[in-house]
Amino acid sequence: MGRIRILSDIVANKIAAGEVVERPASVVKELLENSLDAGATLISVETDGGGRRLIRIADNGCGMMRDDAMLAFERHATSKLSSVDQLEAIATLGFRGEALPSIASVSRLQLETRSATETTGARVAIAGGKLLACEEIPLAPGTTISVSDLFYNVPARKKFLRSEQTELAHIASLVTHYSLAHPDKSFELTHSKKELLRVTPVTTDRDRVFQVFGASVLEDLVEIGTRSVQNGRFRLSGFVSRPQVQKSNRNSIFLFVNRRLIRDRLLLHAISAAYHNLIPPACYPFALLFIDCDPAEVDVNVHPSKTEVRFRNGSFVHDFVRDAIRDTIIEQRPVPSAPPPGTPLAQPGAHLPYSEFSQAIENFRFDEARPVIPVPLEGSAPLPEYTLRPAQPPPARFDFGAAPPIELETQPSAAEPLRLKIPDTHGGFPEGVDLNAPQGMVSLDDLRVLGQIHDSFIIAAGRDGLWIIDQHVAHERILFEKVLAQQAAGRVEQQRLLMPMVLPLTPAQQVEYDRIAEELERAGFETEPFGNRTIAIKAAPSDLAPGDLERAIYEILEIAEGEMRKTQVEDFRRGIAASLACRAAIKINTRLDQAKMDYLLRELSRTRCPMSCPHGRPVALRYTTREILRSFHRI
Ligand code: ADP
Ligand code: MG
Repeated sequence: MGRIRILSDIVANKIAAGEVVERPASVVKELLENSLDAGATLISVETDGGGRRLIRIADNGCGMMRDDAMLAFERHATSKLSSVDQLEAIATLGFRGEALPSIASVSRLQLETRSATETTGARVAIAGGKLLACEEIPLAPGTTISVSDLFYNVPARKKFLRSEQTELAHIASLVTHYSLAHPDKSFELTHSKKELLRVTPVTTDRDRVFQVFGASVLEDLVEIGTRSVQNGRFRLSGFVSRPQVQKSNRNSIFLFVNRRLIRDRLLLHAISAAYHNLIPPACYPFALLFIDCDPAEVDVNVHPSKTEVRFRNGSFVHDFVRDAIRDTIIEQRPVPSAPPPGTPLAQPGAHLPYSEFSQAIENFRFDEARPVIPVPLEGSAPLPEYTLRPAQPPPARFDFGAAPPIELETQPSAAEPLRLKIPDTHGGFPEGVDLNAPQGMVSLDDLRVLGQIHDSFIIAAGRDGLWIIDQHVAHERILFEKVLAQQAAGRVEQQRLLMPMVLPLTPAQQVEYDRIAEELERAGFETEPFGNRTIAIKAAPSDLAPGDLERAIYEILEIAEGEMRKTQVEDFRRGIAASLACRAAIKINTRLDQAKMDYLLRELSRTRCPMSCPHGRPVALRYTTREILRSFHRI
């Protein structure tokens, strides 16, 4: 007898579940898509235990005929596809007939459904793929599916699940996504009876964006008026952020093809290409894009969870999307503080807001910049171009991004007793860095301030040469260490706000907030939930100006989101400290008096890692006496 056997349906479904049902959010995705395919206009999602304990989705869609209720759990049972031809042009979100049997094989599932064309409905209960009950019951039209104890019979899968909050964050982000794609429908999401999202039907995408994200996010976005090519065969609409919005991860990019949520590298690349040179390379914009096309132009049958698509003509779609976004952003300028259109844009440093940089471009008076330092200095890297750029014409570039950091760490040699050892540029506290060591190291505390250029950089003379210190970055380093030290000691200086500040949160931010509320408190914030997806801030770390508060909180929530997969609380705390330091630090283009500059250098010399900011950018450039002598041909 041969050894090959056909797997039983129960086993086959469990295997398929491995592909379709990765985590609670995948269940929500499949069930939501079914509700949308059923034409529902009212969809409510109830969850508990991060979706592991319960996911219940109720809709007012077409419902199932009583005879179909059981059939829906057969493998490859679908009402949406009957021939191969149709697979070429799928208009529904589902089509494989795999989701319900797969989910039912790894959970306890109950289906209650009634078709509007019948007078009674059906209830089906299944656990681990085994049918427990099937009965006729009176019901209102529509469908409710409850999935409890997900993965109860797949311990291996259960182990891989993240914390309740993380799984919930995925669910929240998913429901948010779908609500954005269907502004004409009602969506509701609750967790342990607490409401995370509730949106009622509106007529435009803009209104839905407003409902979900609030007015301040909307202000930073530009709407892409519907653009179409090839006689309307491809259409693009949606929203993209202005260049001053810089996210540290891709969580704010929402892509839909024919209103189906997808993740697509091609489109992600098109977005990055559109923002090339408008925002720093390591940053991402907010984007909510709807591509609509003939279903025959796109193959959705590429990935088990249908999140990947393949366009028939990928490079065409790529260029279309890139150009449409780019044109939209360019048309929408000038943003209040951005340089005029056509100006080659700077690549600001990764953590400095774009607006600050564009301000710098505008305020920068090149004619005041006397080229005091000859370039190129032999044996050193070329100087960044902004130190020597002539005034005219045109004063357009202030290009931090392109300026290679001066290599400060040179080879040790006996001829040069004074040598600076550069610590870890990522802000670590490396062992053995003693800046006060008399021999072999340079001490920062005998620097003498000579002055300030461009209201941004401090020029100082030291025993070993000439120093240029970036005042913002220097202050950032000082504050970063101060914040970390205060937090570690549990004594963060706090200031009470005269009036509590009320901030609206997105569902995903609300989930993150619940998760990190304690960390916020530890960092010196006093916050409390304030009704529906809003929080009130009552006190904040004292270094932070009230005007920077809102940005800081949103930034911290974004860091938390980015760390969704990581559990390193230390990294997160450093992230908070870095963000607070950056917000509170003296900005560039700020005139400083002598006392302030002295203070900055003194404090900087006391930090443990004075040569780089918490984000890894250099704090100071140094031209050694030896380099200066060499440039004057004196040695
Ligand atoms: P698919 O969506 O790929 O067809 P599913 O396993 O997700 O496969 O669902 C099987 C079938 O069950 C669907 O084709 C549809 O007929 C029916 N169905 C599932 N969910 C609903 C719902 N919420 N309302 C009406 N019918 C549904
Ligand atoms: Mg389906």
